[in-house]
Amino acid sequence: MTDIAVIGAGIAGLVCAQQLKQAGYSVVVVEKSRGLGGRLATRRLYGTLADHGACYLKPKGELLGRFVEILCDRHILEVWTDEVYELTADAPLSEPKNRSPRYVAPGGMSAIAKSLAPGLEILLNQRVVAITPTPENSWRLTLESSNEELFAKAIVVAIPAPQAVMLLESLGESGLDAAFLDNLRSVEFYPSISAIAGYPSTSQPLPQWKALTFVDDIDLAWIGLDSSKRSNPQQPHFVVQSSADFAQRHLESQDLQPAGQYMLQRAAESLSLPWLSTPEWMQVHRWRYAFPSRPWHEAFLSDGTPLPLICCGDWCGGNLVEGAMLSGLAAADEINHQLHHLPLDNVNFLNVFT
Ligand SMILES: Cc1cc2nc3c(=O)[nH]c(=O)nc-3n(C[C@H](O)[C@H](O)[C@H](O)COP(=O)(O)OP(=O)(O)OC[C@H]3O[C@@H](n4cnc5c(N)ncnc54)[C@H](O)[C@@H]3O)c2cc1C
Repeated sequence: MTDIAVIGAGIAGLVCAQQLKQAGYSVVVVEKSRGLGGRLATRRLYGTLADHGACYLKPKGELLGRFVEILCDRHILEVWTDEVYELTADAPLSEPKNRSPRYVAPGGMSAIAKSLAPGLEILLNQRVVAITPTPENSWRLTLESSNEELFAKAIVVAIPAPQAVMLLESLGESGLDAAFLDNLRSVEFYPSISAIAGYPSTSQPLPQWKALTFVDDIDLAWIGLDSSKRSNPQQPHFVVQSSADFAQRHLESQDLQPAGQYMLQRAAESLSLPWLSTPEWMQVHRWRYAFPSRPWHEAFLSDGTPLPLICCGDWCGGNLVEGAMLSGLAAADEINHQLHHLPLDNVNFLNVFT
């Protein structure tokens, strides 16, 4: 029996787990993938790394600002660029008017999540497939691959709301509040498709920008020269992100290669860089739940039943990595409130770095 099981090792789950662990609770994090970070995702391919999820951090508030500062001191993060160009139809490529630093991890954005792992018990490759209350007033978590079970006094569900619905719906009859499930169902996400493409090192002169937003393109949202985040890149590679509309149209495609090829073709035409359409290699990734389109308006969602169960993530209250972190912290506070009321005043997940 553990005090708290956190489902999902994205940034929200890890911040929450680290905060609770430092307060003195026993915590287990369960993650379905083989690595940490969720949408803070990095792929190792063709002798390099590429961030096919979150591309950079742009701190707005104090919490992310402090976190970024610490990770810069530890050489996990560094400034990549302070300008993201914008391309609008029928207008020449424009330099950004507002500049602010964008931080990236040369070792891949998933390194940000890994930095929060020390001291945590994390089960990887373990998808939670069912949650049920036990007569002993605890939660039972059933794990898919091992057919094992975990028991916890409280659960934090730190996964996108539509996935949380799939997990929790069957609990409806055994005590979950109907309003809670309705609130969870009300949250919606945009999908996105990311294409990672590598080019010969002898490629034509690279563009002057490192990152560019397609302001009103129906198919494309963003492109970045991802290789410029790495030290000593052997060849240039780009990451292109689709628009939500484009991703929606291709969401169920078995083979995503044609969609990726089309995205490169579109980028090549829009940017007048014809060689972009003929990469040496390309990999495509589908994000079914990329960005919240209808978020929940508070920093966490609680079922309000005696056995604590709290949902959190970027879809609660804010968005992006910063919103996910704030939501993870708010969930930790609420779990503490519902369990022991341990003093959290001097507890700070950032103490993991001291
Ligand atoms: C293409 C793209 C680009 C982005 N760009 C940026 C950016 O530039 N800057 C920025 O700040 N943000 C960006 N974001 C958003 C940012 O990545 C997210 O807001 C943030 O990472 C969300 O964190 P989270 O912890 O809420 O959820 P997630 O990262 O989705 O974590 C949820 C975790 O739960 C796991 N999981 C799900 N179901 C189960 C289950 N049943 N059992 C066990 N584990 C489970 C998943 O595998 C995942 O690891 C981008 C996102 C995408 C997709």
